[in-house]
Amino acid sequence: SSHHNKDNESGRVRLAVRVRPRSAEEVISDADFADCVELQPELKRLMLRKNNWSAESYKFDDVFTETASQRRVYEAVAKPVVESVLSGYNGTVMAYGQTGTGKTYTIGRMGKDDAAERGIMVRSLEDILSGTSSSSDVVEISYLQLYMESIQDLLAPEKVNIHINDDPKTGELSIHGATLVKLRDLDQFLELMRIGEANRHAANTKQNTESSRSHAILMVFVRRSVPQKSEDEIGVVPNLPRGNDLCKVRKSKMLIVDLAGSERIDKTGSQGHLLEEAKFINLSLTSLGKCINALAENSLHIPTRDSKLTRLLCDSFGGSARTSLIVTIGPSARHLPETSSTVMFGQRAM
Ligand code: ADP
Ligand code: MG
Repeated sequence: SSHHNKDNESGRVRLAVRVRPRSAEEVISDADFADCVELQPELKRLMLRKNNWSAESYKFDDVFTETASQRRVYEAVAKPVVESVLSGYNGTVMAYGQTGTGKTYTIGRMGKDDAAERGIMVRSLEDILSGTSSSSDVVEISYLQLYMESIQDLLAPEKVNIHINDDPKTGELSIHGATLVKLRDLDQFLELMRIGEANRHAANTKQNTESSRSHAILMVFVRRSVPQKSEDEIGVVPNLPRGNDLCKVRKSKMLIVDLAGSERIDKTGSQGHLLEEAKFINLSLTSLGKCINALAENSLHIPTRDSKLTRLLCDSFGGSARTSLIVTIGPSARHLPETSSTVMFGQRAM
C-alpha cells in the first residue's frame, strides 16, 4: 500500500524478554542450581550470571519478571502491533526460546477457565474484533504449522504441502489453498484454535514428532472500508457526496508466531530424522535472525528468501510493518548455555 507508517517504531524489531517462574518440579530437581538470571526492569536490562565472577548484560525494550501478568505482556508487546494493523499496516509478533520456557504460554494460551490467563493470540483477536465493528469490515484467519519446510493447514489437516505464492507485480503474498475462515466473534475463534490444536497434536502423533519442533503460525487478515479523502480534504469541498465511491478498502495482516524450540543441535546429539529436523529448525531460525539483524542495521536488503518461515514473514516485517519479538527463558543455571544463546538472538550490536 502507498501510505507509510510514520511513527519511529516501524521498520525495526521491538525486543522483549520474559522469564518464567520455576516449576514445582524444578524447585526440587534444580535446587543445586542458583538462578542465573537477574532482571532490572527499570534499566530494561537482563543480567546473566556466568559464574561467581562474571555476568553479561543485555538490553531490551521490555523486561518481564516471573510476576508479570499476561495482560501486561500483551499490552507492551502485541497491542501496539494490533493498533497498527487496525490502521492498515502489517505486523508480526513472535516468541523465541528453548522448549519449556513459556512460548506457548505467552502466545497461545487460551485461558478457558480464567480469562486473565489468556495469551497474545486471544487478546489480539479480541481487540481486532472489537476494533472492526463496522458492517463492512472483515476479519479472516488461517492457522498453519511449518514443519521441515513444509506448510500444513491446521484447520484442514489433509492439506500438508501448501505453497507460498508471491505476486511479483504487487509484492503480495498468498498461501495458496490454505483454509481462510471469516470470523464472527471471539467464541468462534476460540473454537477454531481448539480444533487447530487438536489437529496439530494428531499430525505430530502421526509424524512421531513434537509440537516443539514446528512453528505455529496464526495469520489474521483485516479488510476495512475507509473514507477515500481525509477529513480536512472533505472540509474544503462543501456538500461532497458521501457514498461507497468515496471509500476504499484497506487491507492489512497480522502474523502471530509460536516458534519452534531454539535448543541447539549439538546438545541433542541427534541422528537420522531428528538431525534432519534440527537442520530445518536451524535454517529457519538462523535466517530469521539474519533478517532481524538486517532490519536493525537499516539494511536495504532483508534476506527473506532463505527459508519458508522468513518468506511467510516477508511482507509483515520491515518497511512500514511493526514487529515484536519476545524471548522466553527459564531462571535456573542448569540451562545457562541455552539461555545464553537464546538471549543473544535478536540483540542489536552495541
Ligand atoms: P514452550 O511453549 O516454550 O515449550 P510452555 O509455554 O509450554 O513452553 O511452558 C512450559 C510450562 O511452564 C507450562 O506448564 C507453562 O504453563 C509454564 N509457564 C510458562 N511460562 C509461565 C509463566 N510466565 N508463568 C507461569 N507458568 C508459566
Ligand atoms: Mg510450546
